[in-house]
Amino acid sequence: MAGSQPNGTYTAAGRRPRHIIIVGGSLGGLFTGVALKQHGYDTTILERNPTNLLENQGAGIVAGGDTLAFFERYDRCKRPVAVTSQKRMYLDQSGEVVHEEVMKQTMTSWDLCYYMLRANYDHQQSGYCKVPGPQPGDGKIDYRYGCTVTGFQEEGDQIRVFYDKTDGGKESVVGDMLVGADGPSSSVRKILCPEVERKYAGYCVIRGTVPENEASEEARKAFVERFTFFHAPGIQNLTYTIPGIDGAMEPGKRLLNFVWYTNFPEGEEELEKVMTDKDGKRRRLTIPPGTMRPEAWEMVKQRGRDRLPPQMSEMVEKTKQPFVQCITDVITPTNDFYGGKVVLIGDALAGFRPHTVASTSQAAFDVLMLVEYLETGDHAEFVRRTMEYARLIQKRGMNIGDRSQFEKLPLREYVEDRNMMSIKREDLEFPEWTQVRV
Ligand SMILES: Cc1cc2nc3c(=O)[nH]c(=O)nc-3n(C[C@H](O)[C@H](O)[C@H](O)COP(=O)(O)OP(=O)(O)OC[C@H]3O[C@@H](n4cnc5c(N)ncnc54)[C@H](O)[C@@H]3O)c2cc1C
Repeated sequence: MAGSQPNGTYTAAGRRPRHIIIVGGSLGGLFTGVALKQHGYDTTILERNPTNLLENQGAGIVAGGDTLAFFERYDRCKRPVAVTSQKRMYLDQSGEVVHEEVMKQTMTSWDLCYYMLRANYDHQQSGYCKVPGPQPGDGKIDYRYGCTVTGFQEEGDQIRVFYDKTDGGKESVVGDMLVGADGPSSSVRKILCPEVERKYAGYCVIRGTVPENEASEEARKAFVERFTFFHAPGIQNLTYTIPGIDGAMEPGKRLLNFVWYTNFPEGEEELEKVMTDKDGKRRRLTIPPGTMRPEAWEMVKQRGRDRLPPQMSEMVEKTKQPFVQCITDVITPTNDFYGGKVVLIGDALAGFRPHTVASTSQAAFDVLMLVEYLETGDHAEFVRRTMEYARLIQKRGMNIGDRSQFEKLPLREYVEDRNMMSIKREDLEFPEWTQVRV
């Protein structure tokens, strides 16, 4: 229960952890820090970013059941976290609606989640929310930025974590447990499972936002409080409404967020062009906002004019801070390390394709499971539930992503694939190949 002290239960490592070190201070790390603090554990977050706040990409997140459940349970800011979309619509290339279904879906933004979590964890002030004060029974908190974790070792019952500081120094910190929440290229996972590779899937996602009140009437009709899709060979685009600046929820102040998957085969010139930033550096997997080369952006916009419905092409034309991410696959074979003293969560455990709309929810779910593990001592159950979910959704993401990008299907099958990703986690069935014995 939030606010309680660790209640005398034990981890599989044989003793109750008091101080937990979390690697990564993005959403997964902050979910961990916020929940554990409220359960009375002391936490230290180590984040490699050189400044206190992570750079806002201002982009949307579909808020799945576990994301909402997490905020419901642990958020003390008590402000709404999501905008509701009422309908799903599918467009053809001329922009006509070819299919629609009434289906509610909640949409949030990365920055709103981030600032709410920082307010809850280390009382970070922002325009997004009121900052809740500390409560009796909270564990101690410590958010250290500019700290890149490079290794760890067991020291008796404890774990020592080593990190490099941005100023060139080297330091370490000792805790009772280590949580790797350091994303899809996780250093913690590389140390534990060096054989695991993160592989390019053959396509990228172009992302951006446009203020609702800068969109044409046609675009507003298509995207305001709608979850709207377009499929064509090698293309999938989905566009939806998310909270605006400082998490604004009022009509007119929100943002229209587009997520446009488009194929860039490995080794081809167009991939090199899109992934080379304005300083001429070939980036491996992401071109962050503000770093795209004008000629690469022109190439992408032309692709939009040629292939997207006019409302979606308009979003591409009007976005001021586009960014690009290569779609990749990665999953760790297990979450059973050092008898439960080291765990992976979120993208560090499994980097899903974004079609699953489940990455943030996975991080929230893993943390809800971690809390249960710490409170009950049932390590095997933690491993089982986090791994089964990771295996199922990771495989489904690869499957529906490949079908969308590399096959030509009737619309009905795209709709079915999409609807499959909306099945509530509680209703999922886990086939034998997902199952884990610990
Ligand atoms: C700045 C940022 C913006 C994002 N914006 C969006 C968005 O708009 N929409 C969306 O759907 N998803 C976004 N994501 C991804 C989304 O947060 C994740 O897919 C999901 O929430 C799971 O998060 P995670 O914390 O497991 O991994 P991540 O979000 O990848 O976070 C991992 C964190 O670990 C840190 N880290 C990595 N290696 C080390 C190390 N060796 N030592 C210390 N720290 C380390 C990274 O700097 C990062 O902050 C964003 C991620 C980041 C980091």
